[in-house]
Amino acid sequence: MASPQGRLTQQAMAVLDVVFRVPCVFIIDAICNCYSDPASGWAVTAGRIFLRCLGILGSSMVLTLSQKALFRFYTLFFAVLLGTVSVLINYYATSHVDFYGAYYKAALGHRLLPRNGPSLWLGLAIVQLMFGIGYAVLLNVQSVSAAFVILSVTVPIWGLVVELPVEARQLVSTISGLLLALNTAVYLAAKLRWFYYSCRYVYLLVRHMYRIYGVQLLLEDTWKRIRFPDVLRVFWLTRMTAQAIILVYVVRVVSSETGDPSYLSWDVFWDLVSNLIISGCDSTLTVLGMSAVISSIAHYLGLSILAFIGSTEEEDKRLGFVAPVLFFILALQTGLSGLQPEERLVRLSRNMCLLLTAILHFIHGMTDPVLMSLSASHVPSMRRHFPVLLVSLCLFVLPVLLSVLLWHRYALSTWLFAVTAFCVELCLKVIVSLTVYGLFMVDGYSGVLWEKLDDYVYYVRSTGNVIEFVFGVIMFGNGAYTMMFESGSKIRACMMCLHAYFNIYLQAKNGWKTFINRRTAVKKMNSLPEVKGVQLNAIKDVCAICYQEFVSSARVTPCRHYFHALCLRKWLYIQDTCPMCHQKVYVEEEPRDTAAFSNNNGYAAPDDGAGRLAEPREVEGIAAEAAAAAPDSDSELLEDNDSIEYDEEEWGAKNGGMPMEEDYINDDTDSSDE
Ligand SMILES: [Zn+2]
Ligand SMILES: [Zn+2]
Repeated sequence: MASPQGRLTQQAMAVLDVVFRVPCVFIIDAICNCYSDPASGWAVTAGRIFLRCLGILGSSMVLTLSQKALFRFYTLFFAVLLGTVSVLINYYATSHVDFYGAYYKAALGHRLLPRNGPSLWLGLAIVQLMFGIGYAVLLNVQSVSAAFVILSVTVPIWGLVVELPVEARQLVSTISGLLLALNTAVYLAAKLRWFYYSCRYVYLLVRHMYRIYGVQLLLEDTWKRIRFPDVLRVFWLTRMTAQAIILVYVVRVVSSETGDPSYLSWDVFWDLVSNLIISGCDSTLTVLGMSAVISSIAHYLGLSILAFIGSTEEEDKRLGFVAPVLFFILALQTGLSGLQPEERLVRLSRNMCLLLTAILHFIHGMTDPVLMSLSASHVPSMRRHFPVLLVSLCLFVLPVLLSVLLWHRYALSTWLFAVTAFCVELCLKVIVSLTVYGLFMVDGYSGVLWEKLDDYVYYVRSTGNVIEFVFGVIMFGNGAYTMMFESGSKIRACMMCLHAYFNIYLQAKNGWKTFINRRTAVKKMNSLPEVKGVQLNAIKDVCAICYQEFVSSARVTPCRHYFHALCLRKWLYIQDTCPMCHQKVYVEEEPRDTAAFSNNNGYAAPDDGAGRLAEPREVEGIAAEAAAAAPDSDSELLEDNDSIEYDEEEWGAKNGGMPMEEDYINDDTDSSDE
């Protein structure tokens, strides 16, 4: 298994992997951003376009290389670089350095070469020796040819030492350079076969994967394999750092010229930061880089909040995915990178406000299930409740603060309207969650079975959902207004369609389904006879769903099984059959005489195999869980509406019934897509 050392090596390899890929992104970015003179002739333009395409293609190819191939490429690259540098140094030294004279060049204020003879050639010899050895090691040259390479690199220095005339020295260095180039060419030619076969292998692999898994999975795999988010992050951060250094340097020079001692005042600092941010999103690639940075911030924010509120939901760790995607879509939708610098800053801050509210919505989606499970399962420890309540409070206060602040600063616009609507919606959602939480808590402390609880929870939740739906429609109207009168891009139109589908259509559909389910369940249940009073006391049994005794009344099914009205209604949302024996509950037929007058003994159900509920206890667990789970963890998309509405598939998965099979089939078709 992985020893600490092995793991360290692996991590180092991963870091190198990322570092080696970043230059490709820089090259692509530079090519995309470089200015082209439109006045030049078409031949020049065509040539330039061709060169750019070639550059982008080459960089993309290197970017998507496998780790092994990437390392090989860089080994080769560094070897060629070393060889070239050493040849250049040789040429420079032999033709421009007057060996024993006082002549030397000064560049950037530094003496490039030492002045005196022996120290000069000794230094040169050592440098060239190192270059030669480095070249030989990197290319893994055989020992004989390695000696030859090192010799050929150092020979011009010996020409210097024995004071050959300048022409002869130049000839020697040229020949040595040619020899090195020849050696490299031979090496590359020998590797050509390997290159051909690996290219072919990669091509076949990609084709195979494309045929089996489709293009989406192929892209996903590549995205992960080349650690693209990491590469983008490193790219963006390096770019920002370099620009920051340059800007600070410029500010310093300017202030030293004007004689202003406080060169980094608050204003200057603010200017600097806004400049940096503006240039941090000046192209699609940099916006992607910014999204990658936002992704890691959101990821750790999400993780820390999950840890703080004590949630164990694996699914909720998607904030690191949702936030950058939202940011990127917003940037595309508003054409962020194409704007003028000043406008860009304004637009970016507006997008950030929207993103912030969306993140708060997502966090609410994370806290809500925890809040519900804490209250529904009556966890007594206040220490577990406190963090969740605190986060909920923050989720209420932050949007209020944000909208108050924005209303003070800006005049009404579609953007401000959208942010405010988002904030109000969030506040309402928090209120709904807290109300339901309060109801469950009251139920937990009261000690008696509260039959109406379910109804109240339903009313609160559905009010919340109706309000959410109304807000969805309002936001749609706002978006439509923006599209008609402000900026109508294709991406915005797509987003509007998505919004209409997920936040309006699905929400309405789910809400309606819940309503109908509930109504039919109530109707079904009301058709069953009720047992009360003396007859109830004669039963001496418990409800088979919740294992609690009957307090005031019980409902009896045609198959003569007893349940609480509330428990049975929850069950009837899902299935028409009796949880004990799987006979139809709602069919008007004569009760069977064979059925015994009891829930838990005496009656053996016909062995109907699949779908039979083995453990009544489990029902309670599921019921509590389903009541607890507020399903809208994914705040904006795919809103599932009611805590009391039971997810059919969830039941199916737990009971091994029909829906599970359906699920299985779905899975199957998904994975073997084509
Ligand atoms: Zn019950
Ligand atoms: Zn039954």
